[in-house]
Amino acid sequence: MLGFLYIINPYSLIITVDNLKVRIYTKNLLLLCINKNIIMSETIEKVKCLIIGSGPAGYTAAIYAARANMSPVLYQGTQPGGQLTTTNEVENFPGYPDGVTGPEMMIQLQAQAQRFETDVRDGWVTKVDFSGDVHKVWVNETKEIHCDSVIISTGAAAKYLGLESEQKYLKLGGGVSACAVCDGFFYRNQEVVIVGAGDSACEEAHYLSKLCTKVTMLVRRDEFRASKIMAARVKNTENIEIMYNTNTDEVLGDGQVVTGVRAKNNVTGEVTEIPATGFFVAIGHKPNTDIFKTYLDLDETGYIINEPGTSKTNVEGVFVSGDAADHVYRQAVTAAGTGCMAALDAERYLAAKESTVEA
Ligand code: NDP
Repeated sequence: MLGFLYIINPYSLIITVDNLKVRIYTKNLLLLCINKNIIMSETIEKVKCLIIGSGPAGYTAAIYAARANMSPVLYQGTQPGGQLTTTNEVENFPGYPDGVTGPEMMIQLQAQAQRFETDVRDGWVTKVDFSGDVHKVWVNETKEIHCDSVIISTGAAAKYLGLESEQKYLKLGGGVSACAVCDGFFYRNQEVVIVGAGDSACEEAHYLSKLCTKVTMLVRRDEFRASKIMAARVKNTENIEIMYNTNTDEVLGDGQVVTGVRAKNNVTGEVTEIPATGFFVAIGHKPNTDIFKTYLDLDETGYIINEPGTSKTNVEGVFVSGDAADHVYRQAVTAAGTGCMAALDAERYLAAKESTVEA
């Protein structure tokens, strides 16, 4: 291949490749470059208040931010509605005397946020850069957003034991789950095992007991962590068997699906094989904060450390609400409360910033 470049005049040039001749007008090239820059800058969106996450914290922050004319943009993440979408009955959220299902409550919260024109979007925030004055956020690896303020409401994700067999059947979709409400239906009239002793484990065990013939609950200590009322509900359910001081040794299966669980008493050393077609893990959650760790102060578990009594993080203009910072209460109502705090803190921050610029 033989190519030549001829500059005819400042306005045009000719490129020949073999015998093919192409005249290019530099003016057009210049325009193309300018346009490209415009297009590039258009791909960077500027947002006054970006909310990351769509649980009760995120939607409450959105309701308050929208009503304060902050034009919030909310990215829902991979689990729109957050953890509550996997909760069956919510009986302790004020204002619902007859209880409400988690998904129903999240639909209502989203509708309330959108009523005040929150821009609710699909998308997963994959990267942030909080090193400068402008807080940069990337959505789905590509879309770049420059934010005046950011409210983190990314919540927490289910923890697993980490056993190879557990992960194997989890990935195969062969009988390991961290959500009884999502998957319990598939184990109707079957026997299942659940590990954990907190409120989640009790709630899920009780839920499963209504579907399954038998639920065996593995509790690693000699007592529950759950509240007394939740633990009592489990203890009083006929088809729930509780095995105290018991660890999960192995999830057993035929290579495709779970067939049982091998459990070991950590006091006596006794090993028991429990026949089961489902293994449910309800041992708590890990905050979804990995993408922030370069910039924000986190505790040893990964919870974002906020200034006490506020939603402020160690970076100005970045606020946190909900389970991403709360390892104590972790309730829908406290998440909603901190969502409100974050929106008010963000509003005050922006107002102070604007008045400094005007002065
Ligand atoms: P928790 O952290 O409260 O409980 C986790 C449980 O899992 C603990 O009992 C813990 O045992 C056990 N566990 C942890 N790791 C292992 C392991 N490797 N092997 C065996 N067991 C293990 O988490 P929850 O998700 O239950 O609850 C989170 C928060 O949400 C709590 O504040 C809870 O009150 C709240 N919640 C409220 C509900 C409601 O009111 N309707 C429903 C669900 C949750 P150990 O006790 O030995 O540490």
